[in-house]
Amino acid sequence: MGKINFIFGIHNHQPLGNFGWVFEDAYNNSYRPFMEILEEFPQMKMAVHFSGPLLEWLEENKPDYIDLLKRLIKKGQLEIVVAGFYEPVLAAIPKEDRLLQIKLLKDYAKKLGYDAKGVWLTERVWQPELVKSLRQAGIEYVVVDDYHFMSAGLRKEDLYWPYYTEDGGEVIAVFPIDEKLRYLIPFRPVEKTIKYLESLIDNDPSKLAVFHDDGEKFGVWPGTHDWVYNKGWLRKFFDAITSNEKINLMTYSEYLSLYSPKGLIYLPIASYFEMSEWSLPANQAKLFVEFVEQLKKEGKFEKYRVFVRGGIWKNFFYKYPESNFMHKRMLYVSKLVRNIEEARLYILKAQCNDAYWHGVFGGVYLPHLRRTVWENLIKAQSFVSKNGVKIFDVDYDGRKEIMIENSGFIATIKPHYGGSIFELSSKHKFVNYNDVLARRWEHYHEVQEAATPEEESNEGVASIHELGKNIPEEIKRELAYDWQLRAILQDHFIKESETLDNYRLVRYQELGDFVNQPYEFEIDGRRIKLWREGGIYTEEKIPAKVEKTIELTQDGFVAKYKVSLEKPYKSLFGVEINLAVHSVMESPGEFEADRIEVNDTYGIGKVVIETSRKVKVWKFPIKTLSQSESGWDFIQQGVSYTLLFPIEKELEFEIRFKEI
Ligand code: CA
Repeated sequence: MGKINFIFGIHNHQPLGNFGWVFEDAYNNSYRPFMEILEEFPQMKMAVHFSGPLLEWLEENKPDYIDLLKRLIKKGQLEIVVAGFYEPVLAAIPKEDRLLQIKLLKDYAKKLGYDAKGVWLTERVWQPELVKSLRQAGIEYVVVDDYHFMSAGLRKEDLYWPYYTEDGGEVIAVFPIDEKLRYLIPFRPVEKTIKYLESLIDNDPSKLAVFHDDGEKFGVWPGTHDWVYNKGWLRKFFDAITSNEKINLMTYSEYLSLYSPKGLIYLPIASYFEMSEWSLPANQAKLFVEFVEQLKKEGKFEKYRVFVRGGIWKNFFYKYPESNFMHKRMLYVSKLVRNIEEARLYILKAQCNDAYWHGVFGGVYLPHLRRTVWENLIKAQSFVSKNGVKIFDVDYDGRKEIMIENSGFIATIKPHYGGSIFELSSKHKFVNYNDVLARRWEHYHEVQEAATPEEESNEGVASIHELGKNIPEEIKRELAYDWQLRAILQDHFIKESETLDNYRLVRYQELGDFVNQPYEFEIDGRRIKLWREGGIYTEEKIPAKVEKTIELTQDGFVAKYKVSLEKPYKSLFGVEINLAVHSVMESPGEFEADRIEVNDTYGIGKVVIETSRKVKVWKFPIKTLSQSESGWDFIQQGVSYTLLFPIEKELEFEIRFKEI
């Protein structure tokens, strides 16, 4: 009688900086009941990956659970696969950090009683040169999607075996995850999976089906807890798998001890299919969706899908310049602290992948995750602090930034982008005051995602890709898309009659050409003088000059402004300051002040903005619309404060920013 080999694996992860209640909920809804039920089935064995941040939380909060894991390992029910400890996308970090990240999790697995030899590839982001790093880290096999193989030209029927892949003379085994199983488990009735597995049986004893996917699908995703536990899916599944004589359950290591990989194959830079949609710039992602829908309509998708590919993970750095800036700052500090062990741990934490990208989960849209990256990055850099001014291209956009540092702050100014401050990091509070994401149009604001499972079904529970979406009216009213990145000291010229609502909803007219245009600069000791000769555009262009001198102080910075027009024109000169106010929900407001106090209790804390004279202030929350596993998120990314100075010909004033 023929049999099919089957490997069942899950990956459990919570990002560093996630709220305690999220860990707790995921633990109660999924991590705990899952492993408890596994223990009820001594014949059941499986592979599991726990990320470092989650293990640290479990160790601290649920020590009994760690004991449960040790027991399951001892009984041979769990095979541990590792990744970078703080769950970085390995392709996106320096190779020196890859080795240390993997070593840390291997060491942890050893503490649990397992000598791990395999890697769960975070977000399955593959690039060929990873082979070398993985081999050097003592890894023998890696798990990726069958999509990677299909992108390389293999047919689905070739993908029931692991292969070798090679780079620079190093070789590693790669296991393809079966996409069909990813859509069946756990969303459809158990029988569907069994039927599918049985359908694969032929005369080849080495034939293998691999399932390895997010553990959160077993209880955290909407509706799944009830389905997987209360309705008994998981018990039924374990029972069916262990009692079926045609299914030969095994671990990755067991498979490799019995069979050799089927042959040699080269995989392209790739992740899973959905990621190839998400990582495209929004307008191209929309085209991608249209293309996939068209193929489906014509009944051609199944046949030709192997040739359908979108973008690659690293281009999230192209899609979200804020993410790119954070990432390149991380790379910069990583190099600086490579030989300082204590600092290095912080930089490894700053590599946790979630805050750098966005798909069906919040990712870069979640302020508390970005805040955690910045916190660790600033902590790491504090070990090598050097006061002074440096001019270099921080984010590799081809334009040089000015990085100023004193004992309390690191500020990065982009002269070519409005002469504005794009990073104001406090070494006292370990926050970047300008960690503010701009409001962007995403393709899913307009079209449903394409990446739905091919099988339409009313059985089981909906996968999140199938959940319907419509933007609620109350969000639509407040939804706006920015034309500029958000920074500190962005210089506007605005009509006297302009309203706050027009301004915040991007329906106003920008009269000047300063916000995103280049400024010239000069360094005078610790002072950075920036100026631009631009103009106000009314019926005719009126030449205008804005000059600002920025200097860091012990508790913040001071900026001295001089603005002059070539001929009189009454308007408002607005200086916009975008602050990463994340924890206190703000609403739009207009008021007069020469002192604005901001109190963001769980975010940036207390700060004060002072001006040398009383002015009108516009304040509004910057809210982005993103999708998550449960629907729409309308999230406050920060608060914009614009100080409006009336101008006719000339203007001079001062702005102070202080942390308290
Ligand atoms: Ca640059």
